[in-house]
Amino acid sequence: MCGIIAAIGTEPVLASVLRGLQNLEYRGYDSAGVAVGLDDSLAVCKRAGQISALVDDVRAELPDGTRAIGHTRWSTHGPPTDANAHPHTDCTGRVAVVHNGIIENHEVLKADLRDHGHRFTSDTDTEVVAHLVEQCLEAGDETGVAVRQAIDRLAGSYAVAILVDGDDRVFAARNGSPLALGVGADTFYLGSDAPAFVEYTDEVVYLEDGDLVTLSPTSFEVSNDGQLVTRPAETIDWTPGDARKGAYDHFMLKEIHEQPSAIEQTIRGRLTDDGVRLEELEALDFGAVEAVHFVACGTSYHASLYCEQLLRERGVDAQTFLASEYSGSPPPVDERVLTVAVTQSGETADTLEAVRIARAEGATTLAVTNVVGSTVTRACDHHLLIRAGPEIGVAATKTFTSQITALVLLAERIVQDRGTDIQGYPLDELAALSDNAARTLESPQAEAVARRYADADSFFFIGRGPCYPVALEGALKLKEISYEHAEGFPAGELKHGPLALVTPQTPVIALFSGENDRNTLSNVREVQARGAPVIGVVPEGSDLVYEDFDDVLTVPDTAPELTAVLGNLQLQLFAYHVADALDRAIDKPRNLAKSVTVE
Ligand code: GLU
Repeated sequence: MCGIIAAIGTEPVLASVLRGLQNLEYRGYDSAGVAVGLDDSLAVCKRAGQISALVDDVRAELPDGTRAIGHTRWSTHGPPTDANAHPHTDCTGRVAVVHNGIIENHEVLKADLRDHGHRFTSDTDTEVVAHLVEQCLEAGDETGVAVRQAIDRLAGSYAVAILVDGDDRVFAARNGSPLALGVGADTFYLGSDAPAFVEYTDEVVYLEDGDLVTLSPTSFEVSNDGQLVTRPAETIDWTPGDARKGAYDHFMLKEIHEQPSAIEQTIRGRLTDDGVRLEELEALDFGAVEAVHFVACGTSYHASLYCEQLLRERGVDAQTFLASEYSGSPPPVDERVLTVAVTQSGETADTLEAVRIARAEGATTLAVTNVVGSTVTRACDHHLLIRAGPEIGVAATKTFTSQITALVLLAERIVQDRGTDIQGYPLDELAALSDNAARTLESPQAEAVARRYADADSFFFIGRGPCYPVALEGALKLKEISYEHAEGFPAGELKHGPLALVTPQTPVIALFSGENDRNTLSNVREVQARGAPVIGVVPEGSDLVYEDFDDVLTVPDTAPELTAVLGNLQLQLFAYHVADALDRAIDKPRNLAKSVTVE
């Protein structure tokens, strides 16, 4: 999920790999490492923590060489420790591997390799790759064949780069995780993205899923499914300075557009033909769960509200608590209550305090977070990673969507053990969510609408059912980054008070899911009667008449629960473009922090 850099040439390459690691730093990471191929060995240096410290160590300890691989890690399997940092090596130290992504079948492979005498030194899924290559080399395969055989046994998502001692090549493969090849004058580069090597070349070959690349000091070849293929080189016109955020002006926009792949990562390996499988939670006795209590703050609170509804609709007693209010009046709990702490950073002080109380009272506790090894994962009995990858923008975007996706999987897993007559979540549609998110994000509608309303006095967001938490989230996003006043309401609540605030200067953003839309449309009529302009967030193919609204943001037609999630992507874009029109500090809004570690 984080970054890979590699270089090979006729001259020493260590400096460019270290530079590449620094270039990848903006993506976020928790550990990093480098391996250099020398004449008679591989030299490895890796550690948890800052790249700057690693760079100092590498300069002091590693000899230079003409082929090297580097990695920034965002842990998915095993905490960010020195041992879990990449590169990973085999039993002999002859094979070094860096990997981004998740090897889904790592447990099976690891068990098999252990049976064959391999010893593992990390908790990662990645290490199996090094041992698989070793196994094939031991069987007498030529290095290129050994690498291909090893890659063929992997299921999941990966970009990998591999060095093998005694072979003067670098091997790489991609499937579901990005990898680009840079063609320099006398050096070739591999990077998770072109900014990794942008100082050195502007000639880039974008690799495709299934590609296996073999780089020698003077040439490279790409094969796919055993056949040699030609991938065209493109010339990029980024300068090193503007490359970090790629084509995006802000990290927030970049992260909004990362949501299709974040959703895929969240789901990967967890949606099976037999339903939902959550590897990390195998020790949790779902059959014993009688009630679910969510504790969360801000955006995580909205994701929790969404999941609470799902569970309740399926007959599970579920409730959401604002973590900052929990300690004042905690609910009664015992071990049959699953208290789910939802926090992006895993360090939210209010949520940690709620967990402490719930645990002391005997609840079973589960953390849902994006950060491996964060405090909440240690404070709870169990934890589930949302795997959104690092998020740099202070306003949560992709982590909200991945939280929802992970919580849907959790809800489905809870419901799975409760008998067959419960209507499950539309898992087929969940599998299609990533594609539908990509389609939603292609729409230029939000930018135009945002620019039209950027000067309004105040914004109201309304929705019912699954659109209600999304209305709250849409308003929060807008206020966080634009500093404009915005409120979210359950659509039916307007007439119980907030309607007094509605004027022609208060645009109302109304979310529709395809279910109970007529009721929401009645609420739209109420605000229209007071002169407010209405922006409808509407599923394509809905029988709502678009002329009923002043402006429309459309989302692909899917199950109602997921229509709401897609509607939120439009609201993220809307908030972003309002803030951009007002020239706000989008990635670092005033008074806010990414990780709220005070109560
Ligand atoms: N799954 C691997 C790990 O946890 C790779 C993570 C990454 O993409 O950085 O080490």
